[in-house]
Amino acid sequence: MYTLEPNQDYRDQNLQHKAEIIPDDLQADAVKHYDDCYRDYLFAWCNLDNLALHYGYWDENTPYRQHQALLNKNSILYEKAGIQSSDKVLDAGCGIGGSSIWMAKQHANRVTGITISGKQAGHARQHAHRHGVAERVDFAVADFCATPFTDESFDVVWALESACHALNKADFLREAYRLLRKGGKLVVCDGFLLQRQFTEPQWQAVVTCLNGWAVPNLCSRQEFMGLLEQQGFQSVQCHDITPQTQASVEHMYKVAKRLQPVQSISQWLGLRSRAQTANYLVGLAQYRLFTEKLTEYCIFTAEKL
Ligand code: SAH
Repeated sequence: MYTLEPNQDYRDQNLQHKAEIIPDDLQADAVKHYDDCYRDYLFAWCNLDNLALHYGYWDENTPYRQHQALLNKNSILYEKAGIQSSDKVLDAGCGIGGSSIWMAKQHANRVTGITISGKQAGHARQHAHRHGVAERVDFAVADFCATPFTDESFDVVWALESACHALNKADFLREAYRLLRKGGKLVVCDGFLLQRQFTEPQWQAVVTCLNGWAVPNLCSRQEFMGLLEQQGFQSVQCHDITPQTQASVEHMYKVAKRLQPVQSISQWLGLRSRAQTANYLVGLAQYRLFTEKLTEYCIFTAEKL
C-alpha cells in the first residue's frame, strides 16, 4: 500500500519516482508545466474564447459541448459564491486569464489575476486586450501564498483548480483570509482525495496525475473544511459537483486516446518535452482517479465575517 500524506510533496514518499523526475522545486515545476503545455491546452482542451485550464461543468439535462461546459464552470462559481458586479476579485492562479476575462466581460468586474508564470501573465494580458477588457483586468506574477497586496484589498478570492498547487493548503487560505475585506467571499474549486491509501496500480495513476500537473498533494474535503474553519472562515459550504464533471473527465480521456498516435510519434521524434509528455499521460490517468472513486471534485464557498 502507498500513502499520500497531507502537506507533503508526494515525491518525498516515492523515492524511485523522485529519482526519475528530479524536480528543481515545486513552483519551477509548475511554471515549466504551464509554459511548455500552453499550446497543447489550446489545441486539445480549450480555445481562445474560453481560455479555460479547468474541467467543465455539464448539466445532465443540457447537451453542453466542451466550450460551453468550460464557460459554464465560471457561471456556477460566480453564482455559488454570490459575487456582485461591483466586487473586486483576485483570481488566484489565473492561468491564461480565462475566468478573469469572463468576469470582466460578462459582469464588468474589476479583476486582478495572479500566476507564478511570467509567460502566462503575458498571454493573459494579450487575451484581455483581444477581448476588449484590458482596462478592467490586470495580471501579475505573484505567489498566492504570499502576495504583495495590502490587507483587505479584495471582495472576492477566486481559486479555480489552482489551490491544489500549494504544498500546504493552509498557507493559501491564510493569505486569502488576509486579503479579503470583512464580508468578502472565497471560492475554491478543485479535486479532493476520497482516500489516502492506494494499491500499486492506483498509486501509479495518482502519481501520474500529480507529476503531470505539477501538484504536490491533494486534500480531502474534510481536511479542507477543517483548514477553512481554522483560518476563521465562516458559512463554509461544500458542493460536490463530481457528477457534473464526469463528462469532462471522459472527454479528456477520449481526446488523449485519440491523440495517442500523435503523442507517440512526436515523442519518438523528440518533439515533446518531458512536461508535455507528463501532461499528456494525465489525460489517461485522471480517468482512473474518477472511475475508481479515488477523488471527487468540489466547490467550496466561504465568507470572512
Ligand atoms: N484558474 C485558471 C488556471 C488553472 S491552472 C483556469 O481555471 O483556467 C493553475 C494556475 O495556478 C496556473 O496559472 C498556475 O500558474 C497557478 N499557480 C500555481 N501555483 C501558484 C502559486 N503558488 N501562486 C500563484 N499562482 C499559482
